[in-house]
Amino acid sequence: MGFVIEVAYFVAAVLFIYGLKKMSSPVTARRGIVWAGVGMLVAVLVTFFQPGLHGVGNYLLMFIAIVIGGGVAWVSGKRVAMTDMPQMIALYNGMGGGAAAAIAGVELVRHEPMTLTVQLIAVLGALIGTVAFSGSLIAFAKLQGLQRKTIRFPNQKFVNMAVFAVAVLFGLIIGLSGTGYSGGLLFVFFLLALSFGVMMTVPIGGADMPVVISLYNALTGLAVGFEGFVLGNPAMMIAGIVVGSAGTLLTQLMAKAMNRSLANVLFSNFGSGGAAVQAGEVSGSLKPIEASDAGVMMAYANKVIIVPGYGMAVAQAQHKIWELTELLGERGVTVKFAIHPVAGRMPGHMNVLLAEAGVPYDMIFDLDEINNEFASADVALVIGANDVVNPVARTNPDSPIYGMPILNADKAQNVIVIKRGQGTGFSGVENALFFEDNTRMLYGDGQKVAGELIQTVKSL
Ligand code: NDP
Repeated sequence: MGFVIEVAYFVAAVLFIYGLKKMSSPVTARRGIVWAGVGMLVAVLVTFFQPGLHGVGNYLLMFIAIVIGGGVAWVSGKRVAMTDMPQMIALYNGMGGGAAAAIAGVELVRHEPMTLTVQLIAVLGALIGTVAFSGSLIAFAKLQGLQRKTIRFPNQKFVNMAVFAVAVLFGLIIGLSGTGYSGGLLFVFFLLALSFGVMMTVPIGGADMPVVISLYNALTGLAVGFEGFVLGNPAMMIAGIVVGSAGTLLTQLMAKAMNRSLANVLFSNFGSGGAAVQAGEVSGSLKPIEASDAGVMMAYANKVIIVPGYGMAVAQAQHKIWELTELLGERGVTVKFAIHPVAGRMPGHMNVLLAEAGVPYDMIFDLDEINNEFASADVALVIGANDVVNPVARTNPDSPIYGMPILNADKAQNVIVIKRGQGTGFSGVENALFFEDNTRMLYGDGQKVAGELIQTVKSL
């Protein structure tokens, strides 16, 4: 039986890695998720038969937990709107960290003999998992709009560091003291770790959430990997390591996309809105345009670059935008899509939407690939994007988004911006692009306006 279980864990691990590999391309990503899911199913099923593992035998409890957890995840996964996906990821990510920390807690409370190394690893996993748990919950609250304010106070970094240092101290005492520590110590340790996760996240501003979510994702993976080591469960170890390393790479990519170091993200209160609105003062006026005029402008252009953003996701306008693109293509207009790495509310958000609408991948370009092309574009059509095209990031050192690379939509001959009104972007910073001489504002819901553009182009 033992051999079969080992083989099953190995198969599960291979499926995780195979699934991850498939997720690296939008063409195969869906299949990748299914393969990784099958791996998880194998790992869960086999755990029921693992002899000697603490708690295995409470089949009824295990079954109830799986039904409740699986049921809630199934219903919420089915119901969640695409625009709310990042919050859901933050929440589930937090649950993963919390689960890893809970395993550590149980193992430490059991007072069963562990080697010093295992005990220290359990404590480390508990610390990381707990921080990821409470930090992810705050990230969730921020993305959900439940916590709009960035909370800051004097010497905050030092207070945070002090809390972290004391948590580490308690962790060391627990980790080094064999099985002789009291439950009270463990309670204080978890309380400190929870507080640190909250305190570390509350001062981080909206614009940095992509980096923060990726970081907590990596931390959760790491915590799960550590606890897999404690339990001697290879599937958990490998799943944790895979998530941890993928999350670390994603964190680096996201930080690079924001042109910032991780330390800078965590400790500089960047992108926190608030004063940002004043700091990002802009001059000029907003000049509206009708959909009929904008449609004509695009129909007679040589080259149009479309910049989608979060608002396109809200409006679910991707299908209409693709229809418009096809119509323009039939008229000989070259159309390309420019995707900013943090456009929308989750990594790859725009790519997913455009793929869903059927936009071919060879029409979709990353920031580095397309930024020099805006100067030769007749029209940049910005639909529901705001922060990712804000030139203030280039020009205003006082702005909280200063330094973030942006799509050079402002360099196009004409810029048409589709949005509903005067709303700012996620970072709360006023957008200088909207006030430029070559920019026209096309007000309305993204889907409705895209429909009007289609009608105009069809009528020509
Ligand atoms: P923004 O959030 O900056 O702006 C979206 C714009 O869309 C708003 O100005 C809004 O203006 C407009 N909008 C909203 N609904 C509609 C609608 N139905 N029709 C038309 N327009 C609409 O989006 P960006 O994509 O430019 O930037 C993403 C931001 O989110 C960045 O700051 C990034 O850091 C952050 N972020 C990104 C994550 C990621 O992983 N990608 C995760 C978390 C945060 P109005 O209300 O006037 O319509």
